[in-house]
Amino acid sequence: MKKNVIKIILLIVFFLYATISGCGYKSKELAENKLKIVTTLFPLYDFTKNITGDRAEVTLLLPPGVEAHSFEPKAGDILKVNSADIFIYTGRFMEPWSEDIVKSIDNKKLLIVDASMGIKVSSLDKTQEDHKDTHHTKYKNNNIDPHIWLDLSNVIIMVDNIVGSLIKKDPANKDFYQKKGEQYKVMIKDLDERFKKTLNSCKKRIIVHGGHFAFGYLAKRYDLEYVSAYKGSPNAEPTPKLVARMKKIIREKNVKYVFFEELITPRVAMVLSEETNTRLLKLHGCHNISKEEMDRGVTFLSLMEENLNNLKTGLECP
Ligand SMILES: [Zn+2]
Repeated sequence: MKKNVIKIILLIVFFLYATISGCGYKSKELAENKLKIVTTLFPLYDFTKNITGDRAEVTLLLPPGVEAHSFEPKAGDILKVNSADIFIYTGRFMEPWSEDIVKSIDNKKLLIVDASMGIKVSSLDKTQEDHKDTHHTKYKNNNIDPHIWLDLSNVIIMVDNIVGSLIKKDPANKDFYQKKGEQYKVMIKDLDERFKKTLNSCKKRIIVHGGHFAFGYLAKRYDLEYVSAYKGSPNAEPTPKLVARMKKIIREKNVKYVFFEELITPRVAMVLSEETNTRLLKLHGCHNISKEEMDRGVTFLSLMEENLNNLKTGLECP
């Protein structure tokens, strides 16, 4: 009797062990079969994760908190891209270094995706004064505004580009990617409608931004004026002439709020706010997120939702 009980227990233990180790093997195999995708900026990372769900392993190349314009890829980043199935970047105007990465890749199977395909890029505002931006002037076309994701109609095109690349590399999951892409686009279109509706009847029609020129696309889409303290990159220095012009605009238009940008100390915005007795509000360019934001689980949609709320306050919308 006792022997039989021990036999049964041993059998159960063996059965459980076989099941668990079998499952472990299976999920490991699945993980190995998953598409490996490397994306450059946070919006691309978030769009791609929304479309792939758990069917791909999506990596954000920029470490949390790193400012996108001053990022320089290291050898380890090139290795990461080299071992991926798909590399998605925002475009050569935003990430001139992505061309350097692509040149040093020897993985013939890697699918390289320029997410800006089919998007009409705008120039930086001509009224913004030129400044010496040593990081960007070494590249051509430094007069192009690279912040395409801040126009929600461009996001639709970017999502389509990502879906297309996923289907190319993983046709077996075509229906899944298409369905997820469509669902995400519905949410983007809904947010776009709410931006239009909310910003349609604001008392103020100008965004005064103590940061770098990132919201040109957004302002244009919702028919707003936009003035920013620097032109190409958050690391540039604003000229006294431009700061004086911004102060003049604040006084003339009776502006009550100045916007500041993410991830850097908003020095200029703080000075503007102090000297003109205006209040400060954040406008998140979404290029990248901080460690704290990553832990909090922010998404492109939640950040844009916060932007809409702050614009509503800052532009005195009903
Ligand atoms: Zn930027």
